[in-house]
Amino acid sequence: MVKFVEINVKSVLTRQRFRDNWFWNRYTINPYRGCQFACNYCDAITEKYLVHEDYRDFSRVIYVKKNCVEVLKKQVRKAKPDVVALSGVTDPYQPAEKKYELTRKVLEVLAENSFPVNIGTKGDLVLRDMDILKEISEKTWCSVSFTIITFNRDLLRHFEPYAPPPEKRLKAIEKLRSEGIEAGVNFIPIIPFFLDSKENLEEVISKVSGRAGYVLIGSGMTLRSNQRIRFMELLKRNFPSYVEKYLKLYGDREHPPPSYLVKINREAYRLCKKYGIKNYIPPPSYPRPFKENFDVSFLLLQIAFFKEFRTGNPYSAWAYHRASENIERLNTDIRKLYMEGKIDEIPGVGESIRKTIEEYLAEGKSSKLKKEMGEW
Ligand code: SF4
Repeated sequence: MVKFVEINVKSVLTRQRFRDNWFWNRYTINPYRGCQFACNYCDAITEKYLVHEDYRDFSRVIYVKKNCVEVLKKQVRKAKPDVVALSGVTDPYQPAEKKYELTRKVLEVLAENSFPVNIGTKGDLVLRDMDILKEISEKTWCSVSFTIITFNRDLLRHFEPYAPPPEKRLKAIEKLRSEGIEAGVNFIPIIPFFLDSKENLEEVISKVSGRAGYVLIGSGMTLRSNQRIRFMELLKRNFPSYVEKYLKLYGDREHPPPSYLVKINREAYRLCKKYGIKNYIPPPSYPRPFKENFDVSFLLLQIAFFKEFRTGNPYSAWAYHRASENIERLNTDIRKLYMEGKIDEIPGVGESIRKTIEEYLAEGKSSKLKKEMGEW
């Protein structure tokens, strides 16, 4: 039995220090705390995100941010419009949304104030809000990312017991795309030893190809604090022979080692090529002040994305994140700096990044990005 607790909050729009280079968001919004889909790999039950006293209540007690729309209306007045991720520590289209409609109301405020949106969900209830998503798409940018990790019902019973089946999610993707809204798949997390076989990778990637706009490959499932406790309990109960394998792969770490990530990423990359689907979300591009600064900033973040994907190390391209952040903060046009030969005066821009920026501004392309995206 799920209990709903209505609460008032002081803030709902959270600004991130660094832009995300997977979903392109600068802000996050979570209209609920807790999630009825109760996935057994969910990392929102780790202490750093959790508001529940006991992590086992995460899917039994849902906090409903009753005043979030009023609070958001005030916050957007002071914030610069930028990409908002509706997801993170809860699913915005879990069953509670049918009753409370907070996600819908949040989207209405975002549409009205020209904030672009990325939605992360497993719920086909998102189709209810097609009208607003269309409006956001037309005004700025909108992308809906559905998690699909396998089509194996026996495994989903253990890992995603209460989420709508992946076939429904895939149909929702097709519907959204047929209405002109970008939608794709988060193949996240690729659960080690259960979902990382060539067969499962190929089944997911081949089935979503031609139907989804992209498939993001998330090979680095975390195992930390409560999430680790719960996941290991699941293994002990249902898959005892896997316990040892996990201890060997993770040891005391929160992530599998980079060598493992590289192996899975490479296999998935080849399958994406084989089936002709992107393994990334193309950066948003829409009219905004200093648009070219954002185009350059996003280019650097995309290069970082591919470097991180190839090395299995999320910190391998940190210089690109820093430079990109400083470019977004410029209060002058980057092309003006380029014409004056001052690109290397931007903090964090060393020789290699300078050359990348200059090539892009001169020729509208990047050989660095092409190389990072290219054959592997
Ligand atoms: S849908 Fe997302 S937030 Fe909800 S339980 Fe599953 S992983 Fe966690």
